[in-house]
Amino acid sequence: MKSDSAAPRALFSATIAGSLPKPAWLAETTKLWPEWKAAGADLAQAKADATLLWIKAQEDAGLDVIGDGEQSRQHFVHGFLEQVEGIDFEHKVKMGIRDNRYDAMVPQVVAPLRLKGRVHATEARLLRAHTQRKIKFTLPGPMTIVDTVADRHYGDRVKMAMAFAELLNEEALALQADGVDIIQFDEPAFNVYMKDAADWGVRALERAAQGLTCTTAVHICYGYGIKANVDWKATLGEEWRQYEQVFPALARSSIDQVSLECFHSHVPPHLMSLLEGKDVMVGVIDVASDVIETPEQIADTIGSALQHVPRERLLPCTNCGLAPMDRSVAIKKLEALGLGAALARTRYG
Ligand code: ZN
Repeated sequence: MKSDSAAPRALFSATIAGSLPKPAWLAETTKLWPEWKAAGADLAQAKADATLLWIKAQEDAGLDVIGDGEQSRQHFVHGFLEQVEGIDFEHKVKMGIRDNRYDAMVPQVVAPLRLKGRVHATEARLLRAHTQRKIKFTLPGPMTIVDTVADRHYGDRVKMAMAFAELLNEEALALQADGVDIIQFDEPAFNVYMKDAADWGVRALERAAQGLTCTTAVHICYGYGIKANVDWKATLGEEWRQYEQVFPALARSSIDQVSLECFHSHVPPHLMSLLEGKDVMVGVIDVASDVIETPEQIADTIGSALQHVPRERLLPCTNCGLAPMDRSVAIKKLEALGLGAALARTRYG
């Protein structure tokens, strides 16, 4: 069931950044690294069931681009790494990540990296088979991967990022062949190591997207709505200008779409104008609050972004993934996103 890629895109085509909460029967809830509730064939079935449930919820909410909600991976970075040879998952070590913002138990790179095989074929094909809308698939970006593993082999962040970029590219090309319309790389690390992002992060990203003819995207955020991130944001001052250092390099890059935080952030909206020529996925849903946005609030956010982004390039989105949220709250946020985009179409269409 391939989507009709020749169809014109709806104005204010709405989508999510990527992750959605896992149902309680699939994994622990409200956790970033949840334990699965089943194993083997039962787990595979539970992942597929959860994915189908979220496809339906996104369609019912009126979203235009549908994702798998990342129901099949424990974490947005480690889900990919589990299929990479050269990584020791048996001996995880504690490491400060995102410039020591928080500690994580991370696997170690111990040998040259190679893909063991396909990483996300099952969920991409499931998604393709069960919706006629456009589908988006998310992968971690090379720089963010490098920041979420311990290196015992390469001894050089750029070299290791390029090695991961090659593997990501291999999987991205295969996802495209599975019928994926949009491949998005998640690079929250771009907002932490801004100079490195401009120096080599964008180059590694382009390597990961090399040869893709489908739409390509990058998501850059201030993280999930977890306490460590909320505390960090409180230290960033009145104006969050991280994007200012990275957007010019992205504007010159081959990547088609950029996903950014907007609603309830301290990002000066005019920074969006640095992305001239790109589609801009504007975050209109706060993932750090359980308060449900009203359609009016969402349309207002879209309205203010329209001062800096041409309307045919503006795509309403969530600020980040919804993985650690309560499932019922996430459903209401999806519904709000769909209603807000619809209201914006009547207001600004
Ligand atoms: Zn994010």
